Amino acid sequence: MTDTQPRYRAITLSNVSKVPQWEKLDSELREAVETVARVLPFRTNAYLMDELIDWDSVPNDPIFQLTFPQCEMLEDDQYARVRDAIEREAGKEEMNAIVNEIRMELNPHPAGQMTHNVPHINGEPIPGMQHKYRETALFFPSQGQTCHAYCTFCFRWAQFVGMDGLKFANKEADQLGQYVANHREITDVLFTGGDPMVMKAKIFERYVDQLLEIDHVRTIRIGSKSLAYWPQRYVTDGDADEMLSLFERIVDAGKQVAFMAHCSHPVEFDPEIARTAISRIRSTGANIRMQSPVIRHVNDDPMAWRDMWITGTRLGMIPYYMFVERDTGAKNYFEMPLERCWEIFRAAYQRVPGTARTVRGPSMSCHPGKVHILGVTEIAGEKAFMLEFLQARKPELVRQPFFAKYDPTATWFDQLEPLSENDVPFFQRDLDTVDLSVSV
Ligand SMILES: *Cc1c(COP(=O)(O)O)cnc(C)c1O
Ligand code: SF4
Repeated sequence: MTDTQPRYRAITLSNVSKVPQWEKLDSELREAVETVARVLPFRTNAYLMDELIDWDSVPNDPIFQLTFPQCEMLEDDQYARVRDAIEREAGKEEMNAIVNEIRMELNPHPAGQMTHNVPHINGEPIPGMQHKYRETALFFPSQGQTCHAYCTFCFRWAQFVGMDGLKFANKEADQLGQYVANHREITDVLFTGGDPMVMKAKIFERYVDQLLEIDHVRTIRIGSKSLAYWPQRYVTDGDADEMLSLFERIVDAGKQVAFMAHCSHPVEFDPEIARTAISRIRSTGANIRMQSPVIRHVNDDPMAWRDMWITGTRLGMIPYYMFVERDTGAKNYFEMPLERCWEIFRAAYQRVPGTARTVRGPSMSCHPGKVHILGVTEIAGEKAFMLEFLQARKPELVRQPFFAKYDPTATWFDQLEPLSENDVPFFQRDLDTVDLSVSV
């Protein structure tokens, strides 16, 4: 590490007007940033500004849409309320009240995240964990609850504006170890956030060490957007080598490191440093899987997905999931009809070789499970969505095809209705417990 290496610097509402590219935005776009960023989190960095955004294509540039707040992300009346408060220089308290009111209108806690899925030790909740599907426990290390930049559509946006960050954060590495050791059905532990790769290698190591001795843990997963937002993390950052050595140590301990890369668009792989990061991670024996939601304005283009899967495969990554944007935050701006999501998936999937057809989607992470949209079809003369669970609170429901009434405007599972009596069991809205009755 030398002083000449680029250092990570966050760009937020407080300093964005000082970066050179600010001059390239017209006054409407600037106003939108200054207004919407009061309500929704805004954070970008110099790498994204200099390397990934094509400023000649702004505002339509996908990475600009991915990281910069847009006027239409708020409803007209919400935008007007914030704008009005800014213009009459409302006091801090009044501004906070207005902003909080709007945040509450944006469904900050989708899919029962805060109230369900939280595991317990001796009757005490462990707030930094989620255990929804039998084999995989999610862990939210407290030091990983931020990201190198924020996606405008992020379903965890509420934690970045301080609405629930602390409740989700886990400080106790030994609680993680204890819970996982007691649950032999857990084979995969997924570190998530925020982005766990904002953590120093030394801190991440403390958590990992809790798991290396547990025989039934076979895979340590790392959910991260860092390949796109800060590939320097694996190349030039002070502890880049240390992090890679840790991956190697996990592999040497006989476990898989599955790096779950959040990839939104193929331009994320253009810079040389991103390719170097991918190759350095792979050289540790880790493998990289690609997953991302399909988002209007960002990647609602089958050719972007085709290119992403083809380039990603060539770089040694495995296409894994295409998700549907969740029902939270600025969803009105980003969401698309489910049928459209399926069309994008299908058009891209038809154009890639079998080696890239490891991808599944589009998939909705909803309360009862991960619902895979298999397509639109006709059953006994009636148009219908054909669906299946890829993951479910009730594991016996997985991979059983079921049907919902066709609805060309539906954007989320909640809006769908069972096609017939047979489909009703798949639509149970209130399944509180994880069924862990089958042990591995
Ligand atoms: C998506 C998800 C997982 C991981 O599912 P896989 O199909 O194993 O990738 C685990 N827990 C929750 C809550 C999830 O939403
Ligand atoms: S990287 Fe992930 S957690 Fe971070 S803002 Fe983007 S979607 Fe949200």
